[in-house]
Amino acid sequence: MKAVVYHGNKDIRYVTDWPEPEPRPGEVKLKVGYASICATDIEEWQFGPRFVAMTPNPITGKKAPLVLGHEVGGKVVKLGQGVTGLTVGDRVAVNDIINCHTCFWCRRGEYSACPNLAVMGFSADGGLAEYLAWPADHCIKLPASISDEESSIVEPAAVAVHAARRARPEFGERAAVIGCGTVGLLTVQTLKAAGARVFAVDVRQSSLELAQKLGADTTIDAGKEDAGAALRKLTDGIGPDIVVETAGVAQTPIQAIQWVRRRGRVVLVGIYAARPNFDFLDIVDGEKTVIGSLAANPQDFTGAVELMAAGKVNAKPLVSARIPLERTIVDGFERMLKPQKDVYRILVGSGSVSGGR
Ligand SMILES: [Zn+2]
Ligand SMILES: [Zn+2]
Repeated sequence: MKAVVYHGNKDIRYVTDWPEPEPRPGEVKLKVGYASICATDIEEWQFGPRFVAMTPNPITGKKAPLVLGHEVGGKVVKLGQGVTGLTVGDRVAVNDIINCHTCFWCRRGEYSACPNLAVMGFSADGGLAEYLAWPADHCIKLPASISDEESSIVEPAAVAVHAARRARPEFGERAAVIGCGTVGLLTVQTLKAAGARVFAVDVRQSSLELAQKLGADTTIDAGKEDAGAALRKLTDGIGPDIVVETAGVAQTPIQAIQWVRRRGRVVLVGIYAARPNFDFLDIVDGEKTVIGSLAANPQDFTGAVELMAAGKVNAKPLVSARIPLERTIVDGFERMLKPQKDVYRILVGSGSVSGGR
């Protein structure tokens, strides 16, 4: 079958002879509707391998070369032995994270902290292919109100739900979201749904306009004004209760800590390549809480599906382009690499899994 395969740093290949997967017991075979390309895929391609398994992953036993793609929606076309709860023809979104279920954290239900976790597209074959085999209990059945296009965005939406949950928002709290890319815009909507007043910060006018459309109460162009001062002004000189950092550039995590109110909570979601100099007194003085947020838990996926089905999280404007698998590298990865890229998610695949096989 056709697939996009990660071999190593700056080495991804489109192939037509990748073996078609067969579902093992407990797994289903999915026909991929769409898989979206994530900034993490670009990072792995350009600067990795950081997440891609170069030695066999302890859970999956798999290592590179691996099919990329961890944001996936598709249709069940075959059931492995013992699968219940799903039938052929079901449309599903995929929870891309597999846990060991034996470690200290898994036994506490803190799955995203599992040190052994395996991620689709990094330690198991992913969805940038025609077919995919995946544990049935990691497939979330989709209501008709979630389109095939949106189904691959359930994964970043779950990342946003996880990040928002980590902040433990309360009704009427004031939250700033730094970075209005895909995860940032999904976080804005999730925090709104949780009852917070949300300020969106970015340097791209188009992203700020979209943030406003998607429900941000106020947008701040950090390229044009002092965003820290603007946030203080919006919060009676106090600062937001919550700052979620999704931009992942050198200065933004530091700004998140500086801008949050004394005793406020900062959630860091970005994957940070830079190693900035940081004064830890910024945390101590003001008793600020800095929280990391990685990936998502099963309840974040079901939460994301509920929010999308209810129209509280709108992922449709985040679909920037749809391209066939053959064009993934040229029209997907290379386009995402451009500094002036004005894309959120590029969807790869043939889509239209809604009809018959
Ligand atoms: Zn991703
Ligand atoms: Zn574990």
